Amino acid sequence: ASCLVGSEMCIRDSVMEPLDLGFTTLKNRVIMGSMHVGLEDRPWHFDEMAEYFAERARGGCGLLVTGGFSPNRAGDLLPFGSKLMHNWQVHFHKKVTKAVHAEDGKILLQVLHAGRYGYTPLNVAPSAVKSPITPFKPKELSSKQITKTIGDYVRCAKLAKKANYDGIEIMGSEGYFITQMLNKRTNKREDEWGGSYQNRMRFPLEVVRQIRQEVGTDFILMFRLSMLDLVEDASDIDEVIELAKELEKAGINIINTGIGWHEARVPTIVTSVPRAAFADITGQVKKELSIPVVASNRINMPDIAEDIIASGKADMVSMARPFLADSEWVNKAAEGRADEINTCIGCNQACLDHTFQMKRASCLVNPRAGHETKLIYTPVTKAKKVAVVGAGPSGLACATVAAQRGHTVTLFEARDVIGGQFNYASKIPGKEEFRETIRYFLKQIEVLNIDLKLNTQVTSKQLKEMGFDEVVISSGVAPRVPNMPGVDHEKVVTYQQVLQDDMQLGKRVAVMGAGGIGYDMCEYLTHQGPSLTLNKELWMKEWGVDGSNVNRGGLKPMEIEESPRKVYMLQRKTTSFGKDLNKTSGWVHRAVVKMKGVETIGGVSYDKVDDEGLHITITTGKDDKQTVEKRILEVDHVVLCAGQVSVNKLHTELDNDMGKKFNVHLVGGAEFAGELDAKRCIKLASELAVTL
Ligand code: NAP
Ligand code: SF4
Repeated sequence: ASCLVGSEMCIRDSVMEPLDLGFTTLKNRVIMGSMHVGLEDRPWHFDEMAEYFAERARGGCGLLVTGGFSPNRAGDLLPFGSKLMHNWQVHFHKKVTKAVHAEDGKILLQVLHAGRYGYTPLNVAPSAVKSPITPFKPKELSSKQITKTIGDYVRCAKLAKKANYDGIEIMGSEGYFITQMLNKRTNKREDEWGGSYQNRMRFPLEVVRQIRQEVGTDFILMFRLSMLDLVEDASDIDEVIELAKELEKAGINIINTGIGWHEARVPTIVTSVPRAAFADITGQVKKELSIPVVASNRINMPDIAEDIIASGKADMVSMARPFLADSEWVNKAAEGRADEINTCIGCNQACLDHTFQMKRASCLVNPRAGHETKLIYTPVTKAKKVAVVGAGPSGLACATVAAQRGHTVTLFEARDVIGGQFNYASKIPGKEEFRETIRYFLKQIEVLNIDLKLNTQVTSKQLKEMGFDEVVISSGVAPRVPNMPGVDHEKVVTYQQVLQDDMQLGKRVAVMGAGGIGYDMCEYLTHQGPSLTLNKELWMKEWGVDGSNVNRGGLKPMEIEESPRKVYMLQRKTTSFGKDLNKTSGWVHRAVVKMKGVETIGGVSYDKVDDEGLHITITTGKDDKQTVEKRILEVDHVVLCAGQVSVNKLHTELDNDMGKKFNVHLVGGAEFAGELDAKRCIKLASELAVTL
C-alpha cells in the first residue's frame, strides 16, 4: 500500500494496510476499542446504538468493538446492566451488526464479566476480597460455579455469532473477573483455579478453548490482555508472555492491550498521560507471538498510530474515545486530512465521567456522539447571514455548526487568537491536548469559509450596519475579583494574567480558590521545565512505572520532581479539597497537588493583602469545638482562581435595542459563568446552531 495523497499529514503505508486473518480480512489497522456508552443496557436503545456504530463504520474504521456485555447475571457491571445470555436478545443485536455490515464494517461483541468490580451486592469473584473501588464484598465462586461461568462465556459467544457479530473480544484486563482469576492479589484459592500460575491461567484458557470449539474457525476471537497491571502483587512480563502464548495456542486470533486495573494509583488514560505511553510493552509481547497484537491507550492522532505500527511495536491500534470525538477519524487520516480531525483531548468529561454517573456517554468536543439520531446538523434550505461574537469554545462550536449547515458566518474575536479559555488550559502542564481543539477549529474556519475577524471588538452599531439575520453573543467570561482590602496590591494577579503573559511568580505563592482552575494553577506553579506529558520516560519515573514490567505489576517507587516554589491553595469552604473535580480525572489532580507538597487550607476568610503577604482567618470545627486562627501567609504573589463572571455587555445593549433587525442569542460563559464548563458550552452552542 502507498500513501493515498502523498501529503505529510496522511497515514502512509502501515495503518491503512489491510490485515489478513486467514479466514477474513480487516480493511485497515484501526480498531474502535470497547467503551460502555450507556446504549447497551436497554433493548430500546439498540436503534440508536446501531446508528452510533454505523457512523463510525462509515467513517472508515476497520473493526469496531461494542461496550462490554456480561455472559451472565453474576458478571453484571451494574444491576440490570448489559448482558447477552438469552436467545431473545439476539434480535436486538442484529440491528447493530446489520447497520455496521451495511457500511462495510466489522464488529465484535465484547464479553465482560465484572467480577468484584460489579457495582452490585450480587457480585462474585475468585475469592471474597473486596475491591477498593466498590462498596460490595464479592461472594467467592465455588469450583462448580466457575465451570458454569465458562459455559456462560461459551453461550454468550454462540449468541454473538447468531447475532452476526464478526467475533468477540474477551475482556481480560483492567482488573475485571479474568484479571482477578489470574492474580494472587485477588485469587486466594487453593483448588484447581488458584495457587500456581498454571492454575490461575486455567480459567481464561478454558474459556477460549471451549469457545473456539463451539464457534468454529471463521469467527474472530480477540483477547484483551493485561500487559501492565499497575497494582501490587500482580503479573510480571514473563507471566504476561506465557499467557499470551497459551492464548494463541488456544485459538485467539488477535491480542489487544489492556493497561492498569481500575484501582491502580497510576493514571492510564487521562489527558496528562503521554501519548502512546504504553506502546513499548505491547512491542515486548508482540515479539513473542505470531498472531497480530494491538496497542492501546492515549493514541489519538494518525502520526502516533503510524509510528507504533511502522516501528513494529504493534500490528494494529485501538482507540475508543477518539472515535467519540470524530467518527471520520480513519477517512480523514487516509485522505491526508489529519488536520481536520476533531482530536480526543483525554478530558473524560463527557464520556467516562458520564458513564460513572450512569448517564449516556458523549464527547466534550463532539456533542453528537451518542446522540447521532437526535442532534443532526441538517443542511439549510436558505442560507442566513450569521454573526458570532467571541471565538471561545462556544463561539467556535456555534460558528462551525452553523457554517456546516450552509449559513454564511462571520466570527468576531477581540483577541489575536481563537480558543478563549482553552488557550489558558493548554498552558497547564499535562493539558497540552487542548491545543488540538484550537487547531481543529482553526482548520474548520478555513474549510467552512468562515469569515474570521481577529483583533475586532465589534460594536452593536457595526453589527446593525452589517445586515446580519442572526447574532450570537459568546463573549465569554472574566476572572472574578473578590472584594477584599488590598486586592489591587501588586502581589495580586488573576490566573488569566499569569497564563496569558507567562508571568514569572515568586518563590511563595497563594492560590485563592480550589476549583478546577485553582488545581490547574497549582500544577502549573509546582512544575518547571517542559511538561512531563511530553516526555514518557520522565513521566514514568515520576509516577513510578516500570514500563517493561520486570517488577511485578509494573510498579516501582515514585521519583517526584521537586516543586520550584512553596504553594498554598485556599478555599472558604470546610469541605474536602477537590471533591467537586471530575470523577475520573479529579483523583489525578488531587494526587499531583499532594505529591508536590501544596499546602491546602480550608475554612479561610480573606482579610487583606499587603506588603507582608496574605492575611487570613482560619475557622475550623463547629460550635464549642470551633477554633479561629489568624495567619499571615508571607507570599510574593496571590493568584485569583475564584471563579468567573460573565462578559455580556454587548448582549445587554443589543437586547435592549428595539431598532435591530436580527435575532440575538446568548451562549456559553457569557450566559452562565457560574457553571462555566466547556462540555456544556459546546453542547448548547451546537444545539443553538441547529435552530438557526
Ligand atoms: P469553580 O470551580 O467554581 O471554583 C471557584 C473557586 O473559587 C472555589 O474554590 C470557590 O471556593 C472560590 N470562590 C468563589 N467565589 C469566591 C470569592 N468571592 N472569593 C474567594 N473565593 C471564591 O471555578 P473555576 O475553578 O474557575 O473553574 C471554572 C470551571 O472550569 C469549572 O466549573 C470547570 O468546569 C472548568 N474547569 C475544569 C477543570 C478540570 O479539572 N476538569 C479545570 C479547569 C477548569 P470557596 O467558595 O470555598 O472559597
Ligand atoms: Fe475524548 Fe473528552 Fe471527548 Fe471523552 S469527552 S471522547 S476524553 S474529548
